[in-house]
Amino acid sequence: MPCETVIPMTNLAAQYAADQVQIMAAVERVLESGWYILGREVAAFEQEFAAYCGAAQCIGVASGTDAVALALKSCGVQAGDEVITVSHTAVATVAAIEQIGAVPVFVDIDPISRCLNPELISVLVSEKTKAIVPVHIYGQPAPMREILAVADSFGLSVVEDCAQAHGAEIDGQKVGTFGSAGAFSFYPTKNLGALGDGGAVICNSSQIAEQCHWLRQYGWKERYISQIPGLNSRLDELQAAILRVRLCKLDADNARRRMIARTFDEAICGRRIVTPALVSGTLHAMHLYVVETDARDELEQHLTLNGITSGRHYPLPVHLQPAYQARIRGGDKLPVTENLYRRILSLPLYPELTDEQVARIVDALADFSARSDRKTA
Ligand SMILES: *Cc1c(COP(=O)(O)O)cnc(C)c1O
Repeated sequence: MPCETVIPMTNLAAQYAADQVQIMAAVERVLESGWYILGREVAAFEQEFAAYCGAAQCIGVASGTDAVALALKSCGVQAGDEVITVSHTAVATVAAIEQIGAVPVFVDIDPISRCLNPELISVLVSEKTKAIVPVHIYGQPAPMREILAVADSFGLSVVEDCAQAHGAEIDGQKVGTFGSAGAFSFYPTKNLGALGDGGAVICNSSQIAEQCHWLRQYGWKERYISQIPGLNSRLDELQAAILRVRLCKLDADNARRRMIARTFDEAICGRRIVTPALVSGTLHAMHLYVVETDARDELEQHLTLNGITSGRHYPLPVHLQPAYQARIRGGDKLPVTENLYRRILSLPLYPELTDEQVARIVDALADFSARSDRKTA
């Protein structure tokens, strides 16, 4: 076998190199300004990201986890209130709910979209339920209209976890603008990534925005005067300036992600690998390209032998992790979640993959598909 370099799951150095000149200029601008926290860059980014999403308001915060937590709190969710969400997500979704003292409740997912199944919400609603947090997992929009219909019938708030879905759409409308608020992460590997931690809440309500503004900085309504008890969750100027550079390329980056995903789809022809579903009316952000197969170990091994890294997102759903095991309501009735996590495998998918690397992954997938077809024929 030729000695080729291993294709990693992410390549942040290549991402930086692609925008190096503009990023360095942005960084210098901030360093020379003498203003490093919540200043002009954050305000400009908030305005630009709100406009990009089609939202009236954007509030930069310190992380995606904080964005979910502050959005929920700003919607009136208090300690002891229940929040319905999925177990098939990054643990951060659940950590955010518990961060404000609220109580997560797990609902199962739909096997096609892999997002929250709206038909299963109502049986979980109790008198303590205050909100729903759907997750647009892997960049696939959750069925927001159906979720909102159930939420409205019970008077629940909806905070969308958009950490994996910057730029994803349902019928031409960006995710994050369907519910009461949308929460984004700018962790470096996300579709819109900073060079450190960062996050944002978007919303259309000036009341929710005001609460987020107060909460992110000690509850201050004016400097040094706390209107409500708050915390420190600020986006810094350096990250905001870098995000402004990256935001200009988000649509092109997402388009390349979708293009690469299509070539992967076409390479997989066998019956043993299930490709991500195309859900009509939705524009997928392709944060992660996740296939399903009963032969996961075999596929993983085959890719490794061909110098291709793969991942598991996630190796365990939240309700089976030690910190959460057997203590979250709903966790005993998640058959779709429990069937899915053993079968998923994420392939490398990011805009900086070279055509040569894409071709190597395509070859490996086609090879595996053909072989497993022969086996099962
Ligand atoms: C990354 C992620 C988060 C958390 O974002 P951080 O910025 O790391 O706090 C929340 N939810 C989901 C689904 C994520 O993928």
